[in-house]
Amino acid sequence: MLTQAPKGTKDILPEDIYQWNYVEKEFSELCQRFGYKEIRIPVFEHTELFQRGVGDTTDIVQKEMYTFQDKGGRSITLRPEGTAGVVRSFIEHGMSSLPQPIKLFYKITAYRYENVQKGRYREFNQFGVELLGAADPSADAEVISILAMFFEKLGIQNLELNINSIGCPKCRSKYNEKLKEYISQFLGDMCDTCKDRYNRNPMRILDCKEEKCKTLMKDAPALLDNICDECRTHFDSVLEKLDAINIPYNIDKGIVRGLDYYTKTVFEFVSKNIGTQGTVCGGGRYDGLVEECGGAPTPGIGFAMGVERLLLEMQSQSIEIPKPNPPDIYIGAIGHKASLACEKLAWELRRQNITCIKDIMGRSVKAQLKYADKIGARYVLILGDDEIESNKAKLKDMQTGETKDITLDTLINRLLKIKG
Ligand code: ATP
Ligand code: MG
Repeated sequence: MLTQAPKGTKDILPEDIYQWNYVEKEFSELCQRFGYKEIRIPVFEHTELFQRGVGDTTDIVQKEMYTFQDKGGRSITLRPEGTAGVVRSFIEHGMSSLPQPIKLFYKITAYRYENVQKGRYREFNQFGVELLGAADPSADAEVISILAMFFEKLGIQNLELNINSIGCPKCRSKYNEKLKEYISQFLGDMCDTCKDRYNRNPMRILDCKEEKCKTLMKDAPALLDNICDECRTHFDSVLEKLDAINIPYNIDKGIVRGLDYYTKTVFEFVSKNIGTQGTVCGGGRYDGLVEECGGAPTPGIGFAMGVERLLLEMQSQSIEIPKPNPPDIYIGAIGHKASLACEKLAWELRRQNITCIKDIMGRSVKAQLKYADKIGARYVLILGDDEIESNKAKLKDMQTGETKDITLDTLINRLLKIKG
């Protein structure tokens, strides 16, 4: 127990961290290019925020939250996603009085008590974007285009964009009646959760993962065929804008998304490669959410991407992520005087942006050379009393095996030149 991470969590080890650093940096850069600013929100929030903001009838709230009482008796929940926290922050900090729209991005860990499988963990990472204050279809197209450009930038191919409209509360209430009528014939055969959903939020039944419910719902009326004129016009305009920038999509009448607060546009980017956990990212418009959480009515749209799934997808497409450079130089020392000179030299090299590893184990020269080779140092320099005395040393190029005599004073410039 003590030496094993809890189920569904994992360490990101030093040898893999470059992959995370890479996608994080690419994501941040791209979001900023679109004018989005980073926001950091707490890992935990009041439980009520998620009950409201994610929705009481969702799987997340009903089954997956990590909720506990803190020592002050408050009910606290580890964030299962980022949107609710961002919306809370938007309201708390009066962002509606800033120039609109508010364009935010985040990189967070999230927590859900899930059945752990490949691509499904209990602690996982999301990249997300929230665009608040813009009701126009251009906002939907912009958010989707960030994703399309991100995947293009990373070299990911063949992710399918599935898109749908789930209408507004107006068209949905009419649709819910139609749906209930359809479901009523076989409600008895459905899972217990769906029986409960039937009265509380029948649309949730469309998102049930149980095979029997999925089969029964196969021919259910589609919301897209029942949306109002305003929602239809909005949807058509989003598609027109996607066409204008050549982003291909499939209209998928089956997408409802897992969250209660979505309105109008909903979408997913799905992979064919990484198996059942193939949804790399999902998002949608949530025009009712800010008000639901206690703010003034404010439209919003966003997405969240699973970073573990993104990396799995990149692996399955054999996309090479640039590895960090090995150390520029290893400097070793023989003897006390040399070891002091070595301290000084390493300090200067590092100050000049040169990656320098030095002996801190008091190893023999042979062991130092072996170590320098193991860590892949590009150059190796060993200092002894003679070298200090003469101000000259042998610089070994570990790639070619060649050794050159250099004066120590020129070492920094020489390395800087080589680095370019
Ligand atoms: P799924 O249907 O796979 O459970 P979801 O609808 O619950 O996904 P969202 O709440 O929309 O997912 O979260 C956005 C993205 O976060 C997902 O598309 C996925 O890539 C990722 N994600 C969600 N849950 C997990 C998890 N438990 N482990 C890893 N990634 C996850
Ligand atoms: Mg889920």
